[in-house]
Amino acid sequence: MTGKSMTYLFSSAGKAALKTFVHRTTLFAFDLDGTLAPIVADPGKIAIPDDVRNRLIELDRMAPVAIITGRSRKDALLHLGFTPGFLVGNHGAEGLPGREAYETEYVHLCRGWKEQLHMFLENRSTAGIVLEDKGSTLSLHYRSAHNREWTHKEILTAVDRLVPPPRPVSGKFVENLVPMDASHKGDALLCIMQHLGCSRAIFIGDDETDEDVFRLSNDNILGVRVGMSPLSSSRYYLRNQDEIGVLLDRFIETTDKEIPPVMYQ
Ligand SMILES: [Mg+2]
Repeated sequence: MTGKSMTYLFSSAGKAALKTFVHRTTLFAFDLDGTLAPIVADPGKIAIPDDVRNRLIELDRMAPVAIITGRSRKDALLHLGFTPGFLVGNHGAEGLPGREAYETEYVHLCRGWKEQLHMFLENRSTAGIVLEDKGSTLSLHYRSAHNREWTHKEILTAVDRLVPPPRPVSGKFVENLVPMDASHKGDALLCIMQHLGCSRAIFIGDDETDEDVFRLSNDNILGVRVGMSPLSSSRYYLRNQDEIGVLLDRFIETTDKEIPPVMYQ
């Protein structure tokens, strides 16, 4: 499926799909940058608007909520300002139930890559490359490079020499290096659904790594991309990040109308 067949989430067909999916036992999962928080030039300065944060906290009290981000959990927590039911960091490599032992292995692996990159990219600071150590993954930022295209090629050449090879994941002016067998965002979502016994999930994201969820093409997962894209595998889209607040309202209103499961006991 490509973006040509994407449906606007607030169209009548999109609203009908939402009605089927939104339930107290649905897992509500979100990416962070570009989804809950608007993209800004300096990624260190992203901020979740207060109204979005408040609605998210409210939803988190009513239903299972997960945030699945490329940031480390520690960094994500600083920007979130609250701890959601599930917080998965490093594109799916950090914070998954039952996968804790692998994280130690990933940290060790990243340390090795970092040493190699220091040799391969001796000119990294003058070339405008910033190496971010996120524990279970590494990120090579080149947003501030004078010649981004040339710098990107330099990075890709260095990454190609790394032993053992990482799984490179491209982002906006960043190359992320992920351990080959680490979970991606799609694996992470399925793992949390299974852990919580959620039969359905709604996931909202905006970037290349979110496509790992959209590509699952799982009938029990409703994928929503922030922004229409002809290359996306997502079935639904929001027009822009500003619509997240309205969507959270809809989630809250619908789950609030349900009789809490405890009434049946
Ligand atoms: Mg994003």
